[in-house]
Amino acid sequence: MPYSYDTDNIFAKILRGEIPNDTVLETEHSLAFNDIRPQAPIHVLVIPKGAYVSYDDFASNASDAEILDYTRAIAKVCEMKGVAAEGFRMISNAGAHGVQEVPHLHVHILGGRGLGRMLERG
Ligand code: 5GP
Repeated sequence: MPYSYDTDNIFAKILRGEIPNDTVLETEHSLAFNDIRPQAPIHVLVIPKGAYVSYDDFASNASDAEILDYTRAIAKVCEMKGVAAEGFRMISNAGAHGVQEVPHLHVHILGGRGLGRMLERG
């Protein structure tokens, strides 16, 4: 099975209420919360409530309702944080080459300062 979901990952524990989070937005199918180790003045993680490992897993297997909710939740967080005017970056790491630390889909929304070039070699 290409997408094997680990129910013990830290974001699954957040969704089950087993560990706390600093919630920015909660919708029917999505949760957004501040990153515990922020790398910019604004650093919000947006996750679906469903058990999806990565963006490609989600885009392939989630329902239309989940995809709509998640996409709109990302837009709502951008609006709430006011990042559209000055710009922001969205990142979704996947797998070993993507250096994904937590194996539950999350989009990082980073903003509040100039973020530099997208990738450094190495
Ligand atoms: P990844 O490398 O998987 O794309 O990013 C995982 C992110 O999750 C990191 O930015 C890390 O700081 C964040 N993170 C890890 N554990 C926790 C946690 O328990 N709470 C919160 N709010 N963020 C976490």
